[in-house]
Amino acid sequence: MTRKKGLPSVLDELRRNLEKLKLKAMARHLDEALEQATSLEQGYIAFIAGLVEREVLARSEASTKRRTGTAKFPAVKTFDTFDWTFQKGLNVQLVKDLQSLHFIDQGRPVLLLGKPGTGKTHMSIAYGLLAVSRGYSVRFFKAPVLLALLYASLADGTTDRLIGRLARVDLLIIDDLRHVPAKPEYATLLFDLIEARHLKRPTMVSSNLSVQEWGHVLGNPALIASLVDRLMERAHVINIRRGRSYRTDGPDASPDRPDDLTPEEA
Ligand code: ADP
Ligand code: MG
Repeated sequence: MTRKKGLPSVLDELRRNLEKLKLKAMARHLDEALEQATSLEQGYIAFIAGLVEREVLARSEASTKRRTGTAKFPAVKTFDTFDWTFQKGLNVQLVKDLQSLHFIDQGRPVLLLGKPGTGKTHMSIAYGLLAVSRGYSVRFFKAPVLLALLYASLADGTTDRLIGRLARVDLLIIDDLRHVPAKPEYATLLFDLIEARHLKRPTMVSSNLSVQEWGHVLGNPALIASLVDRLMERAHVINIRRGRSYRTDGPDASPDRPDDLTPEEA
């Protein structure tokens, strides 16, 4: 009798204590877990294990969500929506092997080289999202935005801090290195950043230019040649230079596209 009477207050206190300990998911799911334990006639261990698992899951989901936000992907693109048959020259085996993300732990760069529309950005976002879901920190930049950010840091003397911060990101994605109105400092800034990550943390670079052309674009061919040397030393190269554009040749552009596509897909 006494025990029954005391139970709600014990339960309330437990909930308060869980909240105090910031075990929010356990507090939230307490009633439901108790009901489940009663209906399934679970033992104490199964009950507490189930409740703790809810907390672990909630935290991992929150952390993935946080890291997805920090990564600043321009869109959501995954390998689930990637048409593996579209690009005839694509080394599908390599693209799939890289999904293991061993290259991140090994600090090996990945270069995606190919004409516009061949799926470079799609793939780099897809790798980035995979990495985020497996607990890595990721930061995605359009190359001109990154260069402008590095350049701006010179004005207030925060370059070292910025490069230090970017050097700690598990996977840095520099998307679409192309012809930009170059500033003389761009080459040094990019070199310093790549140098800071070299051998430790991988950088994924996509470009519609060949690596030989990067020097002309960034304005310091000699320095960029050593940057390319550093990247190429251990890089995986996904080469789709002879690929066709999904934008102009893909199903969305094709006149005999099936009529049953949803408006978003069409
Ligand atoms: P790139 O970065 O090489 O210029 P994108 O990755 O931006 O090309 O691709 C252009 C568009 O075509 C994007 O909407 C992308 O999702 C889509 N796309 C490209 N290749 C594929 C593919 N193999 N399967 C599905 N969609 C693709
Ligand atoms: Mg692109």
